[in-house]
Amino acid sequence: MTLASRKRLVAGSALLLIGLANLGMFVNWLETLGVLAWARRVCDQYITGTSVTVIAALLILLPSGTVIAVCAQRCKVCDVLLFRRGKYCSECGSRV
Ligand SMILES: [Zn+2]
Repeated sequence: MTLASRKRLVAGSALLLIGLANLGMFVNWLETLGVLAWARRVCDQYITGTSVTVIAALLILLPSGTVIAVCAQRCKVCDVLLFRRGKYCSECGSRV
């Protein structure tokens, strides 16, 4: 275990404890804003069993390349698949 991974573990544990300690306060704040009641109402009206089934079926049936095609683009010069957003191709350096 390297020093960097130990630092990440300690920082992650501290952040998790802080988050858990303040979770009740956050939920109470959302309750006072009315967000929880709104979410309950919307969930009861729109997130029915049928809609959950349709969403799950679409997520399973749609090819995963569709999601990648939205996020990625191809270089026009060397035809490399580019996942990062940027103006220049990481392989050939031409403008995308
Ligand atoms: Zn290129």
